[in-house]
Amino acid sequence: MRLVQPESLEAAEAALGNGSRALAGGTELVPLLRSRLVEADTLVDVRGVVPRGVNGTTIGAGTTLAELESDAEIPAALREACTLAASPQLRSMGTIGGNLLQATRCWYWRLNYPCFLHGGSECHAREGAHREHAIFGNEDCASAHPSDPAAALLALGATLRTDRRELPVADLYRLPTEDDRDVTSLQPGELILELEVPRPEASTYVKAMDRARWAFPLVGVAAARFADGVRLALAGVAPIPWRIESEADLDQATPLPGTAYKVELARPLIRRALQAVT
Ligand SMILES: Cc1cc2nc3c(=O)[nH]c(=O)nc-3n(C[C@H](O)[C@H](O)[C@H](O)COP(=O)(O)OP(=O)(O)OC[C@H]3O[C@@H](n4cnc5c(N)ncnc54)[C@H](O)[C@@H]3O)c2cc1C
Ligand code: SF4
Repeated sequence: MRLVQPESLEAAEAALGNGSRALAGGTELVPLLRSRLVEADTLVDVRGVVPRGVNGTTIGAGTTLAELESDAEIPAALREACTLAASPQLRSMGTIGGNLLQATRCWYWRLNYPCFLHGGSECHAREGAHREHAIFGNEDCASAHPSDPAAALLALGATLRTDRRELPVADLYRLPTEDDRDVTSLQPGELILELEVPRPEASTYVKAMDRARWAFPLVGVAAARFADGVRLALAGVAPIPWRIESEADLDQATPLPGTAYKVELARPLIRRALQAVT
């Protein structure tokens, strides 16, 4: 495997595609390469060309979670989501761009079962062990999206700038379908460069996890209050970050037998988040 370290965005774009992968902090990609869940003949280290740092409402996609959690200018929902994610070591290496693109933690997928998300016809989790899995959007793939910051950015109504277009964070994600098993709309070789994060009047992120620290969200709730109302988004409840209008939307959940508890777990978290921002 080759490692290239381009010095310009143009050189990075030229090196991407054709069996290569973008590498940022490597906290997600390197384990996936080791377990052969991702194949790449070339790694393109994009840290020299993807913007890093915070400038007003603009955040470079190469900014680490540790940098975001300690910046008072960052809306509280995003700061808190970063603080509650992973471990200090991972947060000091892991970037926000890489975090948004992390793969599912579903153990069937990580053990390379030929499941729906891997292109097969069956979701092994539905009949198997699925305590950490989804309660929404889980008909074909019942995985739960693991990113805390993604839910915060969804509630905040953030947009992304890539090397090809601008798109709302909401449009970065899609449920996998028969024709396309990807959970993002990013094109091959497309680079996330910056995030534009509106400033809310108030915002917060609360999270239920198996341990008090360093665990993926069983349920995460982001709430952001703007002049026209409060926006809510959830982590850990669907194959992608999930927007809801209110607690009442939980009545539309389609939990599996082992995930029904998440519906009840989400209720008090939503109330607590709403209380914090109103
Ligand atoms: C043990 C463990 C616990 C964790 N716990 C949590 C948690 O509780 N909550 C949570 O939210 N996250 C958690 N994470 C995820 C962690 O935050 C991510 O691994 C990290 O943020 C990924 O960033 P990275 O820079 O290391 O990405 P990389 O590993 O470098 O890349 C990840 C993916 O993104 C792509 N990529 C990276 N940057 C760009 C870019 N700018 N444009 C296009 N593609 C890009 C890569 O090609 C790759 O596919 C955990 C991870 C681990 C290993
Ligand atoms: S939940 Fe998704 S990733 Fe897990 S086994 Fe089912 S299809 Fe595969």
